[in-house]
Amino acid sequence: MAQNDNGFIEEHLAEPAGWAKLLALTEPSAINALIDSAYRVKLDTVGPKVFFRGIVECSNICAKDCLYCGIRAGNRQVDRYEMSEDEMVEAALWAHKQDYGSVVIQAGERQDRAFTRTITAVLRRIKAESNGELGVTLSLGEQQDDVFAEWFEAGAHRYLLRIETSNAELYRRYHPNDHDFETRLRCLGALREQGYQVGTGVMIGLPGQTTAHLADDISFFRDQDIDMIGMGPYVPHQDTPLASSDDGRDNAERLRLGLNMIAVTRLVLKDVNIAATTALQALDPQGREQGLRAGANIVMPNLTDTSYRGAYQLYDGKPCLDENAGQCRQCLRSRIESIGETVGFNAWGDSPHFKKRMAREEGTA
Ligand code: SAH
Ligand code: SF4
Repeated sequence: MAQNDNGFIEEHLAEPAGWAKLLALTEPSAINALIDSAYRVKLDTVGPKVFFRGIVECSNICAKDCLYCGIRAGNRQVDRYEMSEDEMVEAALWAHKQDYGSVVIQAGERQDRAFTRTITAVLRRIKAESNGELGVTLSLGEQQDDVFAEWFEAGAHRYLLRIETSNAELYRRYHPNDHDFETRLRCLGALREQGYQVGTGVMIGLPGQTTAHLADDISFFRDQDIDMIGMGPYVPHQDTPLASSDDGRDNAERLRLGLNMIAVTRLVLKDVNIAATTALQALDPQGREQGLRAGANIVMPNLTDTSYRGAYQLYDGKPCLDENAGQCRQCLRSRIESIGETVGFNAWGDSPHFKKRMAREEGTA
């Protein structure tokens, strides 16, 4: 059976060893067949509507030292900033006025009380000033359970915490000794228990990571019953320790692997939300549209003021550094319409997977 045959794809979907083979496809006609079949599943499950999550990169101060990340504490080249409470609230409310259904508040990881309290205050104000309409996702790293609870109570309803790789050994390779895989796992469990919609994801194409590891990551998403996936290609940042672990992958290869990963994840998990992340666009100007064609249904327009944007560089080549939030909105909307899809304005855009989970849990409550 040829690789560009639908039967070939079907036959390899049964188990992780088959997923790894699909992830490794390089032949253009085989990749087209994979992408087309993921796109059909996307249309059948989540439909052709793309939801916006405006992202506010509220601080690049980070207490951690992940070996791949441009804003790690050890990188002395970075000008550190922290938005004021007013600036964060303003950015979120701008998004609400533009009919975005929800925003993501992201930052380096900080557990100090001054920071966690500011976030609580910001959440309360966003909820009050948007009449509870604007959905808020947090992406603020690992926190104590009582902080997760405080933020949930203040109005956050989704949390994005990437596991980065579901392989504990690889995790150790990409992090200093005091960054603990088990703690990250525990946080995912706590978030779920507290009622958050939980998102996770991995970096794709890390040095030493194989397609078998990525297939295991998809199993991890499935076993954790994850509602939304935010994953993107690993893109080296020159001022980080991992940048010197060259594995010979070039940008084209990283992009291909990233798109194959979106497609196989859509084919296996079907009804979850999957983001076409900005890292795709760092590798190719059309990267995010390609992500949507491969099965993604979420994009994250940047709301961060351009005066801060350049200082929030997790990886080299971050696009749109000089575009303000209004330009991002227009640009992304036309990119989405150029591939025949529409933007789902004024809606939270929960994944069908989450809705089914809620219905099940209510049924058994
Ligand atoms: N501090 C929080 C959120 C900000 S970092 C946290 O770590 O959860 C958000 C994501 O950026 C990380 O989860 C990681 O997957 C991604 N990231 C960091 N460095 C990257 C790189 N060099 N290439 C691609 N993605 C990267
Ligand atoms: Fe900090 Fe997140 Fe970057 Fe790790 S990935 S160094 S926690 S910002």
